[in-house]
Amino acid sequence: MTDQFDVVVVGGGPAGYVASIRCAQLGLNTACVDEWINAQGKPALGGTCLNVGCIPSKSLLESSERFAQAQHEFADHGVKVSAVKLDLATMLARKDRVVLELTQGIEQLFKANKVEWVKGRGQLQAGKQVQVTDRAGKTRKLQAEHVILAPGSSAVQLDSAPLHKDIVVDSTGALAFNSVPKRLGVIGAGVIGLELGSVWKRLGAETVTLLEAQDSFLPMADEQVAKEAQKSYTKQGLDIQLGSRVTACTVKGRKVDISYQNGDGEHRAQFDRLIVAVGRRANTHGLAADEAGLLLDEWGFIHVDDQCRSNLPGIYAIGDAVRGPMLAHKGSEEGIMVADLIAGHTAQVDYNIIPSVIYTHPEIAWVGATEQALRAAGVKYNSGMFPHVASGRARALGDTGGFIKLLADAQTDRILGAHMIGPQSSELVAEVAIAMQLGGSAEDLGLTMFAHPSLSESVHEAALALHGHAIHIAPRRKH
Ligand code: NAD
Repeated sequence: MTDQFDVVVVGGGPAGYVASIRCAQLGLNTACVDEWINAQGKPALGGTCLNVGCIPSKSLLESSERFAQAQHEFADHGVKVSAVKLDLATMLARKDRVVLELTQGIEQLFKANKVEWVKGRGQLQAGKQVQVTDRAGKTRKLQAEHVILAPGSSAVQLDSAPLHKDIVVDSTGALAFNSVPKRLGVIGAGVIGLELGSVWKRLGAETVTLLEAQDSFLPMADEQVAKEAQKSYTKQGLDIQLGSRVTACTVKGRKVDISYQNGDGEHRAQFDRLIVAVGRRANTHGLAADEAGLLLDEWGFIHVDDQCRSNLPGIYAIGDAVRGPMLAHKGSEEGIMVADLIAGHTAQVDYNIIPSVIYTHPEIAWVGATEQALRAAGVKYNSGMFPHVASGRARALGDTGGFIKLLADAQTDRILGAHMIGPQSSELVAEVAIAMQLGGSAEDLGLTMFAHPSLSESVHEAALALHGHAIHIAPRRKH
């Protein structure tokens, strides 16, 4: 049986499901092919992000943060609690409920927008056809005018640390530990390692050791932010070992022995659980039949132009499987762009304005260029910084660590980037992203009125500081 669609989207994660809904909104007859089977053994939309990524991790980050606050911070607010106890099963069940509600929500949105969800594994064939194979092995051919490939990514595996039951796990396994590990090891001090390491430290892990191959910490972030973050994580008890490469890993009963090398030589360590979080790779293996002629790059990403067109006419690719950061919101915006292009509209994602967030405590967020990137490019810029310790709202919250830094072009004053560490950075970064999208200057932000007392005043103050006019910090002394 062959079915005819205007658009067939392969993949129902944040890139693919958003593309599907937008296509349908624009009057295109759309099918979305997805093969995800959730923990309950049922097909589910939402991909990695909703099922085993952003959403469950944020759910556990939120719950674990409350547990830690109840233990360590309530007393300072004059709230006495005794015998704070962890009910991990309830915490995990809540996370699973949040996931289920959201994934079912996508299913409802598909119904409301008349997007057909075709369950099974999609493979691109020649001639804009997608062959779908369901769980029973039955195939169905979908003929499309346009195909959008959004297959997502999977965790990179390490030969030196193969996954083993619930002892050596990837991020999916680390979201479902049924007990708090006493000694937790994490390979990779990237975004996932830091977020999941934080969750289990807050929930009571005695030691959390992160073994990071690179010598620098969070090299993609602003240097000052990375330095402040490293200090803060270390204070919380995350033991970050830079320049450390795991060479072997042996599971013995419920323990895992590892060997790793760093500048001082060979070392050994033993953990109760080990998380492997060393990056992700594009899910492009077997995505297209050879006859289709889809071009991949040397890393396995689908080769696309700035508007996500592949080498094949009418075939687009978006999200984690194409160049750029592996972020859900980047994939979603690419999905919207491609849907608009297919419908004949003009559209272009601005790849210079992609917010990034690390949901640790304190939160880290940035948008636009870092100081090191501007320096390397020889761009002259001014910077303005405001520390949260000088914010009334941050003091009332009892969360005064970190700062907001704004960078603007020295000649035009146009905002080039913002880098923040501290409370609600994930929300505050959006203010600067909007200003950048509108071509705003630091002066524009300085002239905007912000509610008092609010954390967003620190964005205002950083903009004022850029020209030496911050009100609530003493001016820097000129030598
Ligand atoms: P990552 O690239 O952020 O970090 C992986 C780290 O592992 C790197 O620092 C790398 O140097 C290190 N590494 C690689 N090989 C190693 C080895 N053999 N030994 C020790 N260290 C090694 O990747 P991730 O943390 O796995 O996350 C995957 C993707 O998911 C990223 O693109 C990330 O942006 C995305 N993600 C985003 C969020 C968020 O937006 N908050 C949360 C989770 C994941």
